[in-house]
Amino acid sequence: MNLFMTNKLNLSFTDTEKVTKIYSNSSKNIFGKSENYHMFFCEGLILTKKIKSKFKITYFRKKNLLFHYINKTVFLGKVEDKNIFIHNISFGEKTKTSLNQVKFFNKKIKKEEISRSSFSDLRTIFANLSLKDSSIAGIAKSLINWKLTNTFCTKCGEKFANPINFKWETQCIACKKIYFPRIDPVIIVIVVKGNKALIGRSHHFPKKLYSCLAGFIELGETLETATRREILEEVGVYINNIKFITNQPWPFPSSLMFGLIAKAKNKKLKIDKNEIEDAFWISKQELKQVLYGKNNNIIAARKGTIARFLLEKWVKNEI
Ligand SMILES: [Zn+2]
Repeated sequence: MNLFMTNKLNLSFTDTEKVTKIYSNSSKNIFGKSENYHMFFCEGLILTKKIKSKFKITYFRKKNLLFHYINKTVFLGKVEDKNIFIHNISFGEKTKTSLNQVKFFNKKIKKEEISRSSFSDLRTIFANLSLKDSSIAGIAKSLINWKLTNTFCTKCGEKFANPINFKWETQCIACKKIYFPRIDPVIIVIVVKGNKALIGRSHHFPKKLYSCLAGFIELGETLETATRREILEEVGVYINNIKFITNQPWPFPSSLMFGLIAKAKNKKLKIDKNEIEDAFWISKQELKQVLYGKNNNIIAARKGTIARFLLEKWVKNEI
């Protein structure tokens, strides 16, 4: 119920308040200034450094070989006294190699001793980033992905020019329409009945992984109607007493997750196998074991996710 709780609870991607978008008047030579920090993406992967079991975003302040391959740049914003720029790199058609881009660049970074970093999947490393780094990385990933996939004006059909201001929004030079990065709202809900909670898994989940049920909010829906529809569609359960718990930006590719709890009216499940692979009722005691990693058949949603947060809170009788 308390929106301000999230930061302290260490939900990944949520500590974004300190990112401010103040665009400088002169966007020329962004590479020459020492207060400018440059982070890199390639094929959706982020350049990070591994230190023991932790990861850190790799920032460059001086030009190196990677800068020759930049094909898209966005200004993320100012964090403390750093101006952070996000770059995507691609080797284009000129480079002749049998390697894919990520392997090509990872190899180059190592060989040229540019940094002890490599491109990695944010989805697999975010829990090992600091809250601050996960929050910056989350925005950066959504933003660069949106820029790379939205390259034509949907009003007049003109191809977007590479902007010189590196702003979040894109303006069509022909018809002047302005586009803002898109956010997709999603509900994620822990459905409970007495001492049991409903957990399920999608077809694309890693092996053994179970989570709370979730779904996109459709046009005209409120959080409540979307939740009622999703749960009924996926498992045939009617729910009531829907309560908002917390929320989390989710950069895969760019959602805002609304975390809720709801009470089930009926227990019998009618699983729609097109929507999900499996779902079942788990007791508080059993779920505790799963969360402690003491169940060999089930893995709960990872730490740092809103699903994990909901499951843990329920087990601790805090929601
Ligand atoms: Zn246009």
